[in-house]
Amino acid sequence: QPHPSLPLNDGRSIPQLGLGVWRTPADTTAQAVQAALAAGYRHIDTAAIYGNEGGVGEGLRASGVAREEVFITTKLWNAEQGFDSTLRAFDASMQLLGLDVLDLYLIHWPCPSRELYVDTWRAFIRLREEGRVRSIGVSNFEPEHLDRIVQETGIKPALNQIELHPRFQQHRLRGYHATHGIATQAWSPLGQGQLLEDAGIQAIARKHGKTAAQVVVRWHIEMGHVVIPKSVNAGRIAENAGVFDFALDAQDMAAIARLDQAEGRIGPNPLTAA
Ligand code: NAD
Repeated sequence: QPHPSLPLNDGRSIPQLGLGVWRTPADTTAQAVQAALAAGYRHIDTAAIYGNEGGVGEGLRASGVAREEVFITTKLWNAEQGFDSTLRAFDASMQLLGLDVLDLYLIHWPCPSRELYVDTWRAFIRLREEGRVRSIGVSNFEPEHLDRIVQETGIKPALNQIELHPRFQQHRLRGYHATHGIATQAWSPLGQGQLLEDAGIQAIARKHGKTAAQVVVRWHIEMGHVVIPKSVNAGRIAENAGVFDFALDAQDMAAIARLDQAEGRIGPNPLTAA
């Protein structure tokens, strides 16, 4: 049974669960990717700055799963923003991944003070027109940045990948995405593991005979997010995908809704991050 997919505003779709590989060492990435593909994942999330695009390509080729069955995302790093430098950085990523066509390319951060994200977005549009990438999107964009690229180019991102987990639920941004038909993808979906210590999450897990990680991943699935938990451990990678045989009830969802915190952000603030 394949994992569910969500539709994108460009007519394509994305598997709702993927493996994240931030801080996965280059020399263990191929193994983690193979473990994920063996466990039924069909979606891998990497980035140029993670230094492991080569391992992602290697794991994909070694898995025996057909290229066309797997959705691969990578991201343009901040230092490469700008029209020409984006085109060059894309080529470098594709070389490392060993792919002809990418499924999704994201602008990693808007870096608003540098004023380059609109030119960068124009290069993304070019790459999609050339058929080198199927879908284009952004990461860590706030409504003002999303408004700006759409005003200047007329092209909406398919998806925005943002920090999103039960302690930081991003109501405003999720509302914006819903209004504009942009998919929401959750990074650090487990709160980098911190949420697994939460007593309320653990109680819900016991009730369902599931683990805390499975409860949090399941919450994202039911919220309609694309979710990319990270692990390098084959057992945990499989565990995080064991979320399609149970459902959270209204009481569980209400309890998790209450975990939201105004200051729940773990990562950088996109308005000030370089
Ligand atoms: P996460 O929330 O996925 O947590 C990962 C950590 O949780 C692991 O290191 C591990 O310690 C723990 N863990 C995972 N599964 C577990 C399990 N079943 N049991 C116990 N512990 C478990 O954190 P993340 O890596 O920050 O985020 C996931 C992915 O999101 C990244 O790998 C990356 O692909 C992406 N990301 C993107 C951005 C961005 O700016 N776009 C930023 C951060 C992360």
